[in-house]
Amino acid sequence: MPILIKGKELAQELRETLGKRIEKTKSQTGSAPGLAVIQVGSDPASSIYVRNKQKACQACGIKSYGYELPEEVSQAELMELIDTLNQDAKVNGILCQLPLPDHLDEFAVTQAILPEKDVDGFHAVNIGLLSMGRDCLVPCTPAGILAMLKAYDIPLKGQRCVIIGRSNIVGKPVVQLMLKEHATVTIAHSRTRDLPGLCRNADILISAIGKARFVSPEYVKPGAVVIDVGINRDDAGKVVGDVDFTSVASIASAITPVPGGVGPMTIAMLLENTFQAYLKQNNVSEE
Ligand code: NAD
Repeated sequence: MPILIKGKELAQELRETLGKRIEKTKSQTGSAPGLAVIQVGSDPASSIYVRNKQKACQACGIKSYGYELPEEVSQAELMELIDTLNQDAKVNGILCQLPLPDHLDEFAVTQAILPEKDVDGFHAVNIGLLSMGRDCLVPCTPAGILAMLKAYDIPLKGQRCVIIGRSNIVGKPVVQLMLKEHATVTIAHSRTRDLPGLCRNADILISAIGKARFVSPEYVKPGAVVIDVGINRDDAGKVVGDVDFTSVASIASAITPVPGGVGPMTIAMLLENTFQAYLKQNNVSEE
């Protein structure tokens, strides 16, 4: 049996430790970290994500400020809210739940958030710093993947890593993080030729596609580490990853489950980013 990379347990440990770190720092600054969460419209999946993020904040001592805007909110109104939150000293992090309705310009919205409050790591400044290997707010899902690999002592230096999916929020930032760890990185996507053959080169295979049980054993080198980012519903309505877990687990050396793998780590990293933003904005460091 492969090692099961238990993201849920690890995220819980990180959140408990973070709660203690926040408590300690609060006695220095006299204020709690604050995260503003903006949701436009009432998409049920987004509402669940937003609620989970807010609950996680409260549990570790981060104050969360929720803004629920109607589906038909204008670009100008949304930008005005972001401007107000940018200037609000008690708000250290701002996130706007994506996707936004079609009439809103997602790029303009993510770039309007001050880079130092951009706890999702979507601002061009943070993406640029990340690609230069500099200190910045790192997108939460990629940060969570790296934290899991490190927590399970999975060697990265010199390892061949293949990432399937080239999105700005997962695939591309994972490339930068893995390069910084001295892995040799290949990124694949829907136009890649011989995807199974390419993936079979990987010591570490990371899938962020969004297709239920797409990755079969044909894509996996025996003994590889497999990280499943996908969150999909199968025909029976069950939440499953991109990886066909049972068959791939029979040849992988380590694998993440869905649910309970990358997802909880993403939230843990959002909390950590909010704390880091708060430390910087208050000009304090942890003792
Ligand atoms: P996206 O839809 O922006 O991009 C999907 C990528 O997959 C694209 O680059 C595309 O080229 C590639 N792709 C699609 N079909 C392919 C195929 N047949 N072969 C090879 N590549 C193919 O995706 P995203 O926003 O990065 O999300 C990907 C998945 O990860 C989704 O299931 C999403 O729900 C999930 N996700 C999970 C978390 C988490 O916290 N666990 C966070 C973000 C996204």
